[in-house]
Amino acid sequence: MKPKLINSIEEMSTVCRQLKGKIGFVPTMGFLHAGHLSLVSEAKRKTDIVIVSIYVNPTQFSANEDLSSYPRNIERDIELLTNLDVDYIFFPTDEQMYPDGYKTWLNVDKITQVLCGRSRPTHFRGVITIVAKLMNIIDPDLMFMGEKDFQQLVVLKQMIKDLNFRTKIVGCPIIREKDGLALSSRNKYLSYSGRKKALCLNKSLLLAQKLFNRGIISSNKIISQMTDLIEENECIIDYIEVFDQNTLEHIPKLISGSRIALAVIVENTRLIDNIKIL
Ligand code: AMP
Repeated sequence: MKPKLINSIEEMSTVCRQLKGKIGFVPTMGFLHAGHLSLVSEAKRKTDIVIVSIYVNPTQFSANEDLSSYPRNIERDIELLTNLDVDYIFFPTDEQMYPDGYKTWLNVDKITQVLCGRSRPTHFRGVITIVAKLMNIIDPDLMFMGEKDFQQLVVLKQMIKDLNFRTKIVGCPIIREKDGLALSSRNKYLSYSGRKKALCLNKSLLLAQKLFNRGIISSNKIISQMTDLIEENECIIDYIEVFDQNTLEHIPKLISGSRIALAVIVENTRLIDNIKIL
C-alpha cells in the first residue's frame, strides 16, 4: 500500500499519538538511495509502524554550502518507500519547521567541535535542533541512522541521553557501491572522472586497515600514507582523524576498535567516509 503522506506537524503528531505498536523512525533529507533504504528495511524488521521523514533542513547548511542545489526527487522517493511498505512519509515545509520568530537552538558541547565540526561550525546545531523537533513530533521508539555520518550518530546519542528522550538510536552499517564508494546523495554531483577519484576515500581507509594489520599503529604514519593516496588522486583533504569511537577524541596510536574518519573534497563536492579498525 502507498504510504500516507503528511506535511502538517499537527497531523503527524496527532497520528503518532494514536498509533498502537512500536514506532520506527528514519529521518532523511530525501533523494533516497540504497543506504537510506537499508535503514528503512532495518526499521521494518524491528518495529511495527515505520515513518520516514524527508526534509532538507536549511539550518544545517552554512551560507557557502549546497542547500539550493541539494538533489531532490520526491516522486521517486515516494515510489521507493512504497516498494518497502513504509507506513507514513512526513515532509514538512520550512514555514512549519521554522516559522517567523523561531528562536530556539540546541547544541552538544565539545564533540560537535571536532571532525566535521571544524569546517562546519554551525552544522551540528542545525542537525541536533531538527532531530529533537522531529522526535518531539513523532516520539518514536527506535530511530534508525547510518554509521556513514558517524559523528552525527554519536552527537545525537549524547543529546538523547542528556535530554532524557525515550527514543533509542539504532546505528546501521555503511552501504557502499560494488567498488567501495559509500552511497551518498552528493555522489550525484560528481563527473565520470570525479566518481573514479572519489574511490580514494574508501581506498585510503582500507589502506589504514592494511597498515594496522602489518603492525603499524602510529596515527601520524597512517594518516601520512592516507594523505599521499588521496593527494595522488587530485583530491583535497578537509581532515583525516583517528579517534576513540565513544569519545571522538584523537588517539595517537591505533587499537582494534578505534575509528578513522575523513572528509575529502572531490571536484567541488565534500564527501565523508569512515571505518572501524578491526
Ligand atoms: P541524509 O539524507 O544524508 O541526511 O541521510 C539520512 C540517513 O541516512 C542518515 O542517518 C545517514 O547516516 C544515512 N545514510 C546516508 N548514506 C548512507 C550509507 N551509504 N549507508 C548507510 N546509511 C546512510
